[in-house]
Amino acid sequence: METIIQKLLEYQNNTIFLKREDLIPFCFGGNKARKAKLFFEEIDKGNYDSVVTYGSSSSNHCRIIANMAAARKMMCYIISPLESSKTTFNSVLMDMFHVKIIVVPVKDVHDTIEHTLKELISQGRNPYFIAGGGHGDIGTRAYEECYSEIKAYEKREKKYFEYIFLASGTGTTQAGLVCGQLLNNDNRKIVGISIARKNPYGKSVVEESIRQYLKNNKSPVSQEMIERNTVFVDDYVNGGYGNHNNSVHELMKKMMYQYGIPMDETYVGKAFYGMLKYIEKEKISGKNILFLHTGGTPLFFDNIKAVEKEALK
Ligand SMILES: *Cc1c(COP(=O)(O)O)cnc(C)c1O
Repeated sequence: METIIQKLLEYQNNTIFLKREDLIPFCFGGNKARKAKLFFEEIDKGNYDSVVTYGSSSSNHCRIIANMAAARKMMCYIISPLESSKTTFNSVLMDMFHVKIIVVPVKDVHDTIEHTLKELISQGRNPYFIAGGGHGDIGTRAYEECYSEIKAYEKREKKYFEYIFLASGTGTTQAGLVCGQLLNNDNRKIVGISIARKNPYGKSVVEESIRQYLKNNKSPVSQEMIERNTVFVDDYVNGGYGNHNNSVHELMKKMMYQYGIPMDETYVGKAFYGMLKYIEKEKISGKNILFLHTGGTPLFFDNIKAVEKEALK
């Protein structure tokens, strides 16, 4: 499932490349598709008859899990917070997949998950639970594998990326890449641009995912190495999840116009903008930089629709 790496543009004397995770060949791609593929390998091995997960109406993860469950004629239950339940392209698709969406106030999400799982089991069903965003060791493994693809590309093309940038949400994608780096003893810099969480919490979650994954895979790495290799930048969250400023908006339009690359404003556009600012701030120059395009194409269309509405005002 190797995704392509393409040269995109020159910036401040650096060459920026994109790894097109958005072109993974099913469910509109994205990092949630790469994670979901591994989750469903587990599910297909067991005798599960339903899937339970959680996330908002704009969740790429929930949409992809719903899609893959529907393809298997498995029931899918999504616990969704009332506070973020507006209609989006992702939620329209989820409806199309006939999932059961259970909307509750965010404070009740945890208990509702427990309750739903208990209820299914009491009916003699065998549900498989997936944490929000595909968080956990399986999600981490998906991105350790992605790191190996990057290594293979470098070997083939005789190139080296001194930096890898990506949008970091739950941090699982970043954790997987950093695990790959640590297991290979590479000393490049992987920079997660936070799209929501602030430090120290954001960084600590990524570190915990790395620690847990390496421990479960019996590959001990010192705490110091984990801390040193986890770069979680919270300077561009712009007030939190889903919030973006006009500069991100303009960048999104420019990327589409000039390069034909869709970048949503919640994840990829926000992180790409953050990366450019970070390059300026840190005076990075003369490097090969890889940006992981983590997908979110349906969100890009939500953004386009908002642009159109604005224009009609
Ligand atoms: C979920 C998501 C991310 C963040 O991934 P995490 O593993 O949760 O950090 C980035 N980009 C897109 C498009 C996503 O849907």
